[in-house]
Amino acid sequence: MRVIGTAGHVDHGKSTLVKALTGIHPDRLKEEREREMTIDLGFAWMSLPARDIGESEEIGIIDVPGHRDFIENMLAGVGGIDAALFVVAADEGVMPQTREHLAILNLLQIQGGVIAITKIDMVENDADWLDLVESDLRQVTQGTVLGSAAIVRVSAISGEGIPELKEALRASLAERPPRPDLNRPRLPVDRVFTIAGFGSVVTGTLADGKLSVGDEVEVLPQGLRGRVRGLQTHKRKEQVAVAGSRTAVNISGIAIEDIHRGDIIAHPGDFKPTRRMDVHFRLLPDVSQPLKHNTEVKLFLAASEVVARLRLLGIEQINPGEEGWLQLELSHPVVAVRGDRYILRRPSPGETLGGGEVVDPQPKGRHKRFSTQTLAGLESLSLGSGSEVLLQALQALGVATLKDVFTRSNLDVETAFSEMIELVASGEVLILEDKPASTTRTQLSPDQLVIARTAWEQFAARLLREVENYHSNFPLRSGMPREELKSRSKAYITSPRVFNAAITRLIASGDLQENGPLVLCSGHTIRFNPDQQRKIEQLMKRFALSSLSPPTIKECQAEVGDDLVNALIETGELVAVSSEVVFDWHTYQRMLADVHRLIENKSTLSVAEARDYFNTSRRYVLAFLEHLDAIGVTVRDGDVRKLKQAGNQGNGNQVVRN
Ligand code: GDP
Repeated sequence: MRVIGTAGHVDHGKSTLVKALTGIHPDRLKEEREREMTIDLGFAWMSLPARDIGESEEIGIIDVPGHRDFIENMLAGVGGIDAALFVVAADEGVMPQTREHLAILNLLQIQGGVIAITKIDMVENDADWLDLVESDLRQVTQGTVLGSAAIVRVSAISGEGIPELKEALRASLAERPPRPDLNRPRLPVDRVFTIAGFGSVVTGTLADGKLSVGDEVEVLPQGLRGRVRGLQTHKRKEQVAVAGSRTAVNISGIAIEDIHRGDIIAHPGDFKPTRRMDVHFRLLPDVSQPLKHNTEVKLFLAASEVVARLRLLGIEQINPGEEGWLQLELSHPVVAVRGDRYILRRPSPGETLGGGEVVDPQPKGRHKRFSTQTLAGLESLSLGSGSEVLLQALQALGVATLKDVFTRSNLDVETAFSEMIELVASGEVLILEDKPASTTRTQLSPDQLVIARTAWEQFAARLLREVENYHSNFPLRSGMPREELKSRSKAYITSPRVFNAAITRLIASGDLQENGPLVLCSGHTIRFNPDQQRKIEQLMKRFALSSLSPPTIKECQAEVGDDLVNALIETGELVAVSSEVVFDWHTYQRMLADVHRLIENKSTLSVAEARDYFNTSRRYVLAFLEHLDAIGVTVRDGDVRKLKQAGNQGNGNQVVRN
């Protein structure tokens, strides 16, 4: 479906021409009828013969106000149109809002259009005069989107030229390529009203995708959820509204006071509102002053209007007729996608400054004004091929699901998928949860996590550095607790899913090793310096002297320090059997084997028997036997212990770390 928008100076006959074309008077406000002036947007529709198929196509028409006081209402309607019906009265010719509306059509890059010189009856069809008006128009429109538009002479009163005008509109629309359908319906709301007994109704030009009765929808930027109860196009009930059609949506579940002109109706989760965007901008040649950094402006995007402050990037000021990059900081969030066109106006005195294209609707943050890297990034985003756009989107997101990357890139899903498969195959993009070697996969699903190769390299280096730092801060510890790494990396890894995938990948590539709850760099071992070595030797001498009544953990700590004791336990040189009792590794192994043998001979073992056998105090023996219970070598049965059932028995080599 297609929509045409009128444009032109006030009183040049736009509304009357729409009535002559469609039979519908588009002025809908009582005040408008009384003042004979269009104040807000008006709507009508008509049938035009569709090319080659002998059927007719229904075309929506948005009639916009021409008076300069209502130019901002005009902007709410003109965004979604396919072609302009540019109206100039024969008696007056080109007037100020003729030029202003032309500039707006040009900034919004509304490519299709027809120029109607209307009210020709007022100049009594004076051919010389009309030639003059026409040549003036050719000059004014030169180099603009209407540069090659057909010019048709009409009278809405006599009906002269109306069939020719319809034919010119049909031909102009037939030349337009179909709207790209990215399957993400987006309805910028241009009117909100209630119908008694029916509920909230909003209207707009559906920019993309389809909306169906029963769909769950979200009103953005508020994030309110509702449901499509009914749909109408051109006052006709529909089950499905398609891209490009004037659509009235009856929404249930949301109060009418909570929806406003400029809001977006979309499927939940498809769009994320933004309060900052990077844009390319052109200042109109006839504005009164150069554009300065930090100027407060009004942003018009789709049907929305918000106050914004602009930051000039890479340039001190933009002179009339020149272009540049801006970062806009918005007073309220809006929904924008890459490639959207917008207009900026000075709030007071009201003046259309210029406009351009949204290049990045969700920049990472505030840019430095003169960073060459930022400017190069914007350049490639605005000119970029599909794969460059995907890479830029991915780089801005860091790690993201494919779905999020595709959404941000605003490429159609098919292109995005095929470009992404290429990027994965060439190794430019990694699927985070895949094994490092599998780069040739062609099966992608939207919830997979992806990361650019360059970003992964930085990411991996950062994580490894974190673990290396830990090793050098704690040389006596065998590894870094995984949880500690997780909390240290929180600044750049925000989700546990990403963290786990990254660690798994680093383990698979051999950069990290895992040891229970610890991670360590490959090849990391605990190394003691000569002083520590000396202390350890002295301590181990004490263990050798009284191996079955050795120093307690506390005594060890007093002698060599906590860190060395922990290190000896981690390396297995000492084996802690309780929070107090520790044996050297050989003694521990010997005791374990002896207990096995004693129970095998006698089938049970009491604490007293063990104490006598080992000839040591009850404290050591009890701790040891309880430890054997805990690790599943023995089970306690009253006063004695037995070996645990075959199959679950500990073997003589078991070493347990606390
Ligand atoms: P708009 O402000 O551009 O929408 O202009 P309108 O459609 O309201 O028309 C302004 C005035 O011009 C009205 O009084 C119309 O009746 C008159 N008008 C519009 N078209 C024609 C026309 O073709 N011939 C004549 N004689 N008057 C016209």
